Amino acid sequence: MRTEILGVAFDNVTMEEAVDRAMELLEQEGPHLVVTPNAEIVQQAQSDPEFSALIAGADLVLPDGVGVIYASKILKRPLKSRVPGVDFAAALMDRMAAAGKRLFLLGAKPGVAEEAARRMAAQHPGLMVCGTHDGYFHEDAPVVQAIREARADVVFVCLGAPKQEKWSSAHGSQTGARLFVGLGGSLDVFAGQVDRAPEIWQKLGMEWLYRAIRQPARFKRVAKLPLFLCSAVGARVKGK
Ligand code: UDP
Repeated sequence: MRTEILGVAFDNVTMEEAVDRAMELLEQEGPHLVVTPNAEIVQQAQSDPEFSALIAGADLVLPDGVGVIYASKILKRPLKSRVPGVDFAAALMDRMAAAGKRLFLLGAKPGVAEEAARRMAAQHPGLMVCGTHDGYFHEDAPVVQAIREARADVVFVCLGAPKQEKWSSAHGSQTGARLFVGLGGSLDVFAGQVDRAPEIWQKLGMEWLYRAIRQPARFKRVAKLPLFLCSAVGARVKGK
């Protein structure tokens, strides 16, 4: 049973439950998709039917941002917990290392995925990063082939939304990998290109504000958050 928040149906799971489910999906044939929508992505999905359908058909829909959690409270169907994509990825890497699963990193500017791979391998002993590719390619076939030849089980697809979800859906089945996780700018974080908010900001659910202050280009995106919460109030008033 999923919890619907302004058109996106979320899995109401804790971090631990999310990682357990991802590990189960890895044991099942075929490609599976994990999406991590925040408020901005929910808004994007409202005006992009193809993206919206992709999210609805995803195997795991995790509430990435505090905006989604606030909206779920306003709508009186509170989600258990925020499951930030970066934290989910970190927890999944520990489990993958223990299970001997192979990880491919796709996305970000040239060199970033390689640096992320080095740091991830150091932070998650036993993790097998079997390949990387930057996110600024013009032909899909060589990327598909690289993932296939690396015999990847999991691909972190970090091309930004909705590109990463659309790419995974269009090409996932040709790669042989079983799990595609759309993780936006996470490779920049793992590579140390963008620092994460200090823990206190994370605990207060204010990571979005920290990122906007550090990267002023994001301010326009963050400014949409109040509108998102207003639409949650509107939906509640209308009894949706
Ligand atoms: N990106 C990419 N290929 C593209 C466009 C973007 O690899 O064609 C990368 C970009 O370098 C960045 C990530 O996708 O690493 C998107 O980051 P953003 O912060 O916008 O995503 P968010 O975390 O907000 O979803």
